Amino acid sequence: MKTAQHEVRMVETPVPVPAEGEVVVRMTSSALCGTDMHILDESPLNPGMLPAGAPGLPMGHEAVGIVVAIGAGVRNLHEGQRVVASCLTACGRCPQCLEGQLSACSGGGSLLFGCQANYFRVPFADVGAAPIPDGLSDEQVLFAGDIMSTGLGAIERAELKFGDSVVVFGQGPVGLCATAGARARGAGLVIAVESVPERAEMARRLGANVVIDPTVGDPVSAILELTGPIGADIAVEAVGLQQTMDLATRVVRRGGTVSSVGVYGGLPGVMLPAGPSSFYHRKIVFTLCPSGAARLQQLMRLVEFGGLDLTPLITHRMPLSQAPEAYELFRSRKALKIVLLPDTADAISAGRKG
Ligand SMILES: [Zn+2]
Ligand SMILES: [Zn+2]
Repeated sequence: MKTAQHEVRMVETPVPVPAEGEVVVRMTSSALCGTDMHILDESPLNPGMLPAGAPGLPMGHEAVGIVVAIGAGVRNLHEGQRVVASCLTACGRCPQCLEGQLSACSGGGSLLFGCQANYFRVPFADVGAAPIPDGLSDEQVLFAGDIMSTGLGAIERAELKFGDSVVVFGQGPVGLCATAGARARGAGLVIAVESVPERAEMARRLGANVVIDPTVGDPVSAILELTGPIGADIAVEAVGLQQTMDLATRVVRRGGTVSSVGVYGGLPGVMLPAGPSSFYHRKIVFTLCPSGAARLQQLMRLVEFGGLDLTPLITHRMPLSQAPEAYELFRSRKALKIVLLPDTADAISAGRKG
């Protein structure tokens, strides 16, 4: 739980009881996400967001597990099923949900909280959770609920066509999923922009043709040399900084698309550079994680039959009891994806000793 600004602690809480429409899931794998760091370090700990009586904000929104209890009215799920949940919950009934934009739900949908725990609740479970096909492991489908859907969503919302040139700024977990998604969807040239060597290497492994280090020379001219002077068809902004938004806008051709999946939580606003070389007649789209059971099923089908394997992103596996240490490691950027696993009796005592 986030118990103070920048602080995560392990806290004992009762096993949740499902309310109407909810299921309770016993976590079997749960990941840390960049958004967790935004929540931990940038968003104030708003007392209005804390569950009644809880000592803090339950962290975690990317997890898989086994359904252990079903609330009233849940029809599509049953106890004992392995499920993955979307990180954004959605009511399934509001106008945005009915037109298929579940991540824009206005009927009570929000970020899923509390997945970095032995048990977590999934509200609107029929809408936002899907059973996992038998042949697929936790780690193969864990990212379908969040970073995989978001990264691929950046490419889909940019309406990538076969052979398009794509630049992806930032090869953190979401940026890497966008790189893999661009390759899977038939991009021609995929250029990744990243300065951390391990992330650059992962970008090549997941389908980037070229990786440009933005700290060496002028990244805009390096990109335009590869795409031709008119610029790239698509630029994905997956960092969440003014600087990368600026660069993305400068390398996209007239008529092209800037597709942002950055979380600009630490900024008061984002500015777009004006002028014909960077601004006129571009499309700019902002995407939150595409969510819902149907989306999850599509992504799991892509893993099962389409060969998209994102498990190389997992650099660390740690017991849940070491979540505070995992956050420190993640904050240092020495880890790409950390998966928290339920503690065995041994791991619990080791974690407490530590
Ligand atoms: Zn996330
Ligand atoms: Zn809704």
